[in-house]
Amino acid sequence: MAINRTDNGARLANAILFPVVGLVLLAIAFSVALIAYTSQSADHAAMDSERRLLRGSTDLQLALLAKEQEGAAVWDLADYYTRPSSVNTQWLDANLGHWLYANHGHDQTVIVGETGEAIYNAVKGQQISPRESQALISGIWPLIARTRAKFINKFKPLPSGLFVIERPLNGFTRSIHETGFALHEGDLAFVSVTAISPELKQFVANRRPPAVLVSVKKLEDTRLSALAARSGVSDLRTRPASAKAEAAATFDLTSPLGAPIGSLAWTANKPGSRILSGVSPVLFLLAALIAGLTGVVLFYTRHNTRRLAESEARAQHAALHDSLTGLSNRDFFADRFRRELANWDARKGLIGVIYIDLDHFKDINDTLGHAAGDEVIREAARRLRVLVPDDATLARISGDEFALLLPGYASRASIEHMLRRIQDRFAIPMYVSGTHLHVSLSVGAAIAPEDSLSMGELLRKADIALYSAKRGGRGRWAFFDISMEEHVRTRENLAHALRDAIGKDLLHVVYQPQTTIDGATVLSVEALLRWTDPEMGPVSPSIFVPIAEEIGLINELGLYVLRKACEDAAAWPHLGLAVNVSPSQFRHPRFIDDLRETLEACNFEPSRLEIEVTETVFADNDCNILSTLKQVQEMGVRVALDDFGIGYSSLSYLRRFPFDTLKIDRSFIADLDVAPHAHSILSTIIDLGDALGMKVVAEGIETRQQASILQRTNCDRLQGFYLSRPVAPDNVPATEARLAADREPAAAISLSA
Ligand code: C2E
Ligand code: CA
Ligand code: CA
Repeated sequence: MAINRTDNGARLANAILFPVVGLVLLAIAFSVALIAYTSQSADHAAMDSERRLLRGSTDLQLALLAKEQEGAAVWDLADYYTRPSSVNTQWLDANLGHWLYANHGHDQTVIVGETGEAIYNAVKGQQISPRESQALISGIWPLIARTRAKFINKFKPLPSGLFVIERPLNGFTRSIHETGFALHEGDLAFVSVTAISPELKQFVANRRPPAVLVSVKKLEDTRLSALAARSGVSDLRTRPASAKAEAAATFDLTSPLGAPIGSLAWTANKPGSRILSGVSPVLFLLAALIAGLTGVVLFYTRHNTRRLAESEARAQHAALHDSLTGLSNRDFFADRFRRELANWDARKGLIGVIYIDLDHFKDINDTLGHAAGDEVIREAARRLRVLVPDDATLARISGDEFALLLPGYASRASIEHMLRRIQDRFAIPMYVSGTHLHVSLSVGAAIAPEDSLSMGELLRKADIALYSAKRGGRGRWAFFDISMEEHVRTRENLAHALRDAIGKDLLHVVYQPQTTIDGATVLSVEALLRWTDPEMGPVSPSIFVPIAEEIGLINELGLYVLRKACEDAAAWPHLGLAVNVSPSQFRHPRFIDDLRETLEACNFEPSRLEIEVTETVFADNDCNILSTLKQVQEMGVRVALDDFGIGYSSLSYLRRFPFDTLKIDRSFIADLDVAPHAHSILSTIIDLGDALGMKVVAEGIETRQQASILQRTNCDRLQGFYLSRPVAPDNVPATEARLAADREPAAAISLSA
C-alpha cells in the first residue's frame, strides 16, 4: 500500500515533470532553429546585396567601356573613314584600334561596316584579318543589330525630304551603343558596341545603317580584383559555364544570344554564419546550462515529490495502522468491513467477524509494567498474524482487543476450525520480561449473513459473543446466539446500566465471615458488592468492577461500599470488617482523605477495619503507593494482601511492605483436590506469611476436607462457602450463631487429626 502510494507520487511527479522537460527541450530546439534560420536569412540577404552590387559594378564597367568608345566612335573622321566609299584601314588602325588598346587596354577592336561585314580587326593593338572576327561578330550579333536599329531610328525626317540624325543629348554618353558579355579566346569579356557617327548634325538623303565599333575587354585578374573591390566582394573569380554548380555565390552571365557563357563566383560574406559561429559556443553553453539547471530542478522536484508522496503514504499508513503492532487499526478495519459487506453476495460464502480479547491483560500490565504489557500485545499480534489467511483483515482495535474479519468461508465449522487454531497457538506460553506467561484468549464471533449484514449489528453481536465467552470462563470462544442477547449486554450497555444502578441505589453489600481455624468463631466479615440488574439479574463483581474501573466509576463505587459496610458493621461491633479496595481507587489522590472522612462520618473504629488490596496496586513501581499504605496503617487501619500467590513476583511485595494479613488465593485451595504437590506448596506459602509476622487467611474453602488440611498448617483464619456464603447484613448474627453452634466440622477434624 505504501509502495503504491509512492508509485502514485512518482507518477504524479512524472506527469508534471515530463511536460516541463518537453517544454524546455522544445524551447531550446526552437531557439536553435530560430537562430539557424535567422543566420541563414542574414546570409541570403547579404549574398543578394552582394549580387546586386556586383551587377551594378559590371553595369558600370560596361557603361565605362561604352564611354571609352565614345571618343573614337563619335567622330566625323571615323564616320568618314568607315564609309564604304572611303574606308581607310590604316587611318582606322592608327586612330582607333591602336589608340583604344594603348589608352584603354581594349583587348580587341573590331569595326563592322554599313554592310554588316567586318572591315577592321585588331587584337591587343595588332591589326589582323577582319575575317578572324567572324566568331565574335556572330556571337554578339544581337548587340550589333540593336545598335544599328537604334541608330536608324534616330533619323528624323525633315520637310525638305532629307533626314537629320538626332543624337541623344542627355545621359551618360552621347553615343548609341549596346553592351553585353562574350567569350574572348575562351575567357569571359565585356563587350560594347557603339555606332560610329558624325559629331555634327548631318543632313542625308537616305536612312542608312551605321558602321559600329566593337570593343572587347577581358575579365582578367586585375579587372576582376578592381571589380571585386568596387563591389565589396572577396575572392571574385570567373567560372566557365561547364563548371559544376557550387555552393559559392555566383552571378551567371549569358551571351547576347542568350546562351550561358559562364559566371562570376565569389566567396560570399556570410554575416549570419559568422555571428552564429561566434555565438554558438556561448549558445551551446547556455543550452547546456539550461538543460543542466532543468535537470537539477527536475531531480529535486522529483525527489521532493516522491518524498512528499512517501510521507503522505506513511501518514496514511499511520492513520490506518496501529503503531505498536503494525496491524490495521479500527478505522481501517471498519473500512474493509464496510466494503466486504457492500460487495457481499451469496456466492461469496460467509463472513466471520471475530473479537479477540487477551484474558487478564490488565493484571499483566499492572504487575509487570507497561513495557511487558506492550511486548505481550506485540507477541499476540505476531501469533495472530501468522495464523490468519491473506484475505483476512486483522486489526488491533483497543488496548488488548483485536478484531478479525474472515471473508469467504464455506461454513461455520471452517470458521470454528480457524478459531481453534488460534487458541491452540496461545496454549504455548509467552516469554516476556524474563518470565513465561500463560496468556489465554477469549473469542467472540458473529457471522454474516446469518447474524446480520449490517456492520454495526455484526460488531455488536461479536461483542456479545465475546462477553459471553468471558462469562463462561476465560480462554473460550463463543459464536453469537440469539439467546445471549437476552442475558448479556455489551460492555457499553453494562457501563450504562451500572451508572444507572448507582444512581438508583440498586447496589447492595453482602458479608462473608472469616472464622478461626476451627471454623467456629467469626472474627470478621468481608464486604462484597452485589448488583442485581432488573433485566440481567445478578451481575458478578468480577465483571462489573473492572468496567467501573474502566469508566472511572470505581472510586464512587468503592466509597459507597466502605460507607455502607461501616454503617452495617455498627450492628456487630465485636467483628472486624474487611473491605476490598481496587488499585485505581487506592491510587486516587483523595483516597486517604476519603477513608478518614468516611470513618469519622460513621464514627467507625479504624482498628476494626482492614482494607484488601491486590499486588496490582504496585504496578508502575509508584513509590507513592508505599507511602499511602503506610498512611493507612498509621490511621490504625490494617492492610491485607488479597489473592496472594497468583501474581508474578509476589514475594518481593511481602518484603517491601509489612502487610497485616495475607489472603492466600483460592486457587491454591482448589488445587488441593487435584494437584499432587498443592499441599506442600500451600504450607510453604502459609509458613512464609507466618514467618513475616502476618496473619494468614485461606479463602475459598469449599469442603470439609480442605478445611481439615488447613487446620494442620499454620494458617490463622478460614473463609469460604463451606463455612458460609456471603450473606445479607441482617443474616450476619444468625450465621455467627450457626457456626458457633455447629462446631462439629472442625472439631471432628481436629479430633481425627
Ligand atoms: P475477592 O476479593 O477474592 O473476593 C472473594 C470472592 O470469592 C467473592 O466473589 C466470594 O463470593 C468468592 N468466594 C468466597 N468463598 C468462596 C468459595 O468457597 N468458593 C468460591 N468459588 N468462591 C468463593 P465475588 O463476590 O464474586 O467477588 C469477586 C471479586 O470481586 C472479589 O474477589 C473482589 O476482587 C471483587 N469485589 C467484590 N466486591 C468488591 C468491592 O466492594 N470492591 C472492590 N474493589 N472489589 C470487589
Ligand atoms: Ca477480597
Ligand atoms: Ca481474594
